[in-house]
Amino acid sequence: MTQLIAGLEAELARLGVAVHRGVKARRLEQQHDEQGSSGGGRWRVLADDGAPLAEADGVVLAVPENVARRLLDAGGTTGTTTDRVEVIALAIDDPRLDGAPRGTGALVARDAVGSGSRRDGAAAPILAKALTHVTAKWPERAREAGPGRHIVRLSYGRAGSAPETIGLDDAEVRGIARYDASRILGVDLRADTVVDLARCTWRMGRPPGSRDARPPAAPEGIALAGDWVSGTGLAAIVQGARGAATAALSAASHR
Ligand SMILES: Cc1cc2nc3c(=O)[nH]c(=O)nc-3n(C[C@H](O)[C@H](O)[C@H](O)COP(=O)(O)OP(=O)(O)OC[C@H]3O[C@@H](n4cnc5c(N)ncnc54)[C@H](O)[C@@H]3O)c2cc1C
Repeated sequence: MTQLIAGLEAELARLGVAVHRGVKARRLEQQHDEQGSSGGGRWRVLADDGAPLAEADGVVLAVPENVARRLLDAGGTTGTTTDRVEVIALAIDDPRLDGAPRGTGALVARDAVGSGSRRDGAAAPILAKALTHVTAKWPERAREAGPGRHIVRLSYGRAGSAPETIGLDDAEVRGIARYDASRILGVDLRADTVVDLARCTWRMGRPPGSRDARPPAAPEGIALAGDWVSGTGLAAIVQGARGAATAALSAASHR
C-alpha cells in the first residue's frame, strides 16, 4: 500500500497537481453566476479555516460516508461500532513459527472453536476472523523485525457486528489474541514469548444498498467515490472511482 501511494504521489507531481496534506475539506460552495442564481456554477472546496482549497467545474468526493453526507448536507445516520474492525498485531519470539505453519495466514470460519481453552479448560471459540503472518508474507517486514521475531496480525469484527476486542484493556486483548493465534497457527504460544502488542481500529464502509445507506443524489458537478458507494475492497473502489472521475470530467467539459 505504501508503494502504491508513493507511486500515485509521483504521478500527481509529474502532472503538476497541487496536493494539500493534512487539511480537511470542510465545506463545498457553489459559485453563483452573474444573475445570482445558484446551480450550474463552479464548485469551491473550503478547508476548516475557510481557506479555499480548490475551485473546479467537477469534484470527486472520495471521503468516508459521514464526511460526504456532511459536505452535501445530506443527513443520514452513520458511525456505529458495527462498521469498525480492530486489528491486533503481536510480536512473538518463538522459533516454532520460523517455518510459517499456516503459510501467509488464514481466514477463520464463523463459530470456529479452538481445541485449547482461553481460561477455564473448556474449548473456546476463536474470535478473530483472520490472521496474517506478516513476517512470512512480506520479506521486508521480516528483515525489519530481525531474526527469530514474528509479527502476526489478527482482525476482529465481522460484517454487522462490533469487534469483540473493542473497549477491552490491553491485557485482555493480549490474552484473546494469543489464544486465537495459538489455535490458528497450531502452536501453543507461551505468554512470555509475546513481546509486544499494537492495536488499531479502522472504519469499514457499509455495503452499498444496505438499509439507510443508499448514497444521496449528488448535485451536478459532484461525483461520489468510496467503499460506501461501490463496495469494499480496492478492486471495487478503483472501478467506482474511475466512473466518478469520468463523471466529474464530463461535467467539467460541458461547461
Ligand atoms: C484492516 C483492513 C484491511 C483491509 N485489507 C484489504 C485488502 O487486503 N484488500 C482490499 O482490497 N481491501 C482491504 N480493505 C478494505 C479497503 O481498505 C477499503 O475498502 C478502502 O480503503 C476504502 O476506500 P475509501 O476510499 O472508500 O475510504 P478510505 O480508504 O478510508 O479513504 C477515505 C479518505 O478520506 C480522507 N478524509 C476523511 N475526511 C476528510 C475530509 N474532511 N477532507 C479530506 N479528506 C478526508 C481520509 O483521511 C481517507 O484517506 C481493508 C480494510 C481494513 C480496515
